[in-house]
Amino acid sequence: MPNTTDGKFSDIDYDALRERYEAERSKRLRGDGNAQYTELKGRADFDRDPFADPDFTREPVSGDTLVTIVGGGFGGMLAAVNLVENGITDFRIVEKAGDFGGTWYWNRYPGCMCDVESYTYLPLLEETGYMPTMRYASAPEIFAYCQSIGRQWDLYDRALFQTEIIDAAWDDSIGRWRLTTTRGDDITSKYLVIAGGILHKAKLPGIPGLEDFKGHKFHGSRWDYAYTGGAPVEGTVMDKLADKRVGIIGTGATAVQAVPQLANAAKELFVFQRTPSAVGVRDNRPTDEAWFRSQEPGWHKERVVNFSAAVTGKEPDVDLVDDGWTEVMWRDTAPVTEDPEVWAAAERSDFDTMEALRRRVDEIIDDPEVAEKLKPYYGKTCKRVCFHDDYLPAFNRPNVHLIDTDGQGVERITENGPVVDGVEYPVDLLVFASGFENGTDYDRRIGFDPKGRNGLSLSECWSKGPRTLQGVFAGGFPNLLMISTVQGAFGTNYVHFLSEVAHHIADVVAMCEEAGVQTVEATPAGEDEWLMTLYGYIGGFVQYQSVCTPSYYNGEQGEPDEKAERNLIFFGNVMEYAEIVDGWRARKDFAGLAITKG
Ligand code: NDP
Repeated sequence: MPNTTDGKFSDIDYDALRERYEAERSKRLRGDGNAQYTELKGRADFDRDPFADPDFTREPVSGDTLVTIVGGGFGGMLAAVNLVENGITDFRIVEKAGDFGGTWYWNRYPGCMCDVESYTYLPLLEETGYMPTMRYASAPEIFAYCQSIGRQWDLYDRALFQTEIIDAAWDDSIGRWRLTTTRGDDITSKYLVIAGGILHKAKLPGIPGLEDFKGHKFHGSRWDYAYTGGAPVEGTVMDKLADKRVGIIGTGATAVQAVPQLANAAKELFVFQRTPSAVGVRDNRPTDEAWFRSQEPGWHKERVVNFSAAVTGKEPDVDLVDDGWTEVMWRDTAPVTEDPEVWAAAERSDFDTMEALRRRVDEIIDDPEVAEKLKPYYGKTCKRVCFHDDYLPAFNRPNVHLIDTDGQGVERITENGPVVDGVEYPVDLLVFASGFENGTDYDRRIGFDPKGRNGLSLSECWSKGPRTLQGVFAGGFPNLLMISTVQGAFGTNYVHFLSEVAHHIADVVAMCEEAGVQTVEATPAGEDEWLMTLYGYIGGFVQYQSVCTPSYYNGEQGEPDEKAERNLIFFGNVMEYAEIVDGWRARKDFAGLAITKG
């Protein structure tokens, strides 16, 4: 599939295809958007950490620290590493999990890996000297890498694991955040960095009867190996599933990786599909050590930037990564233009890209009826494209059954199992590969509601939508620094954004300390100007998404509320975001911020 093709498939009827996309989209529109999902929180049957030591105890911590970082995933760790590199070591990291890793701590489902090339996804490769073993690293390898970063930068000594913030309130009288936690800690902190993650709050589909199911069940990010057997280690088999009927609800990126493993292990596997994923070639392979060791200093940043350019339609001179991602995303098919011809050419290119992925299904799947159901009929940026070489072949196995719901989702769940089209599918185990919250209120996703000046909480201040400068600073919340996609940036290689924003935040802390700043927060004018900047980068996104099938990229196409126009991400690429914030820091004028000194 060449990168820049227009009209590659001479036999495509583009008008018919457009109608098919619209028909598939209409089937899936349901009005309730994100509200169709429920949270795990407080549900004893789902909301637990199967990986942490249940008997863990420690003495409560009290006292003052310069910086408190909430979150020990890549965002929080990179913020910490950058603080250390700036000579700032007076900080703590509060993390609800039992270790560092964030998404790579929680997601230990069988087959879990990163489908972004490891030489670009893993941060700090030149600083650590680490060579990923494979082109696409497995979750256990990435988790171990996170732990090694923790050791290399002495982060373990500063971490409070299995600890959640109960309350974070700004105390003007001492110019500090006061933090209390589930472990009885009472900490004051000049700066509060929230690195809560982009997709860290797992969600469940609100399917009627879910409570009635009598079999075993869990969310994919809370995998229960005690039930399935096996371990989150490549090559192990989930031996306890050999006599089990297993159902999996959802066919997104998690399911695409887990289904082949479940297919190998279970007696029968039922895959409940609402919308098929687009699945391109993976082609994983061991790292060529000679190639890796021959890289010149600076290679990592160059590769990271090149990849982000390639997957945002910037068509760089050379495609260094040259994989499924860069191939699919090479052309920008949501161009900033009013020219209908440019838009039509972009649309044809998008149709061609997706057609190649649909034809891949025909090449792999034996049964034409099953093949038809596995074909994605929507644009390439409507949902996250997946890459895997074993997912589609799994549906050729006699023990694997695709239960397609024709866009409607599972009708209900009985005590025995899911029901689709009036047919009950009894299962012993039900796995929910139903995703993570995105686009819901920020305070809901971070798990606590910081209280700023005058005791006003973030949810109160943002009742009409978020207000930030750079997605980092918020008015009324002194010395609060956020790492998030809420008015912040995003990227196919999300760690690229995290690396840039973590560097920015650590430099801001250093800059403030150097200038004798006591408090720093966004001004209303700074927030308004940032909103205008965000609007300036929307480009063709809104027009493109308006004809998309629902997904977390577009708020599940629910009815937009008054918050939606502010609840934006920065639609430029990571390099454009970095240029803005780096340029802003270089001017050292704190533009858009109110600062006090004392
Ligand atoms: P997704 O949100 O992508 O998928 C959720 C799935 O659940 C969808 O297939 C959805 O269908 C389905 N679903 C929801 N409700 C119902 C219902 N009532 N009946 C049947 N099916 C239902 O979640 P994932 O966990 O798969 O992935 C989330 C994100 O995590 C990815 O997009 C990616 O960013 C990240 N990830 C990254 C990986 C990597 O390799 N880098 C690997 C895994 C995850 P529908 O599509 O119709 O909404």
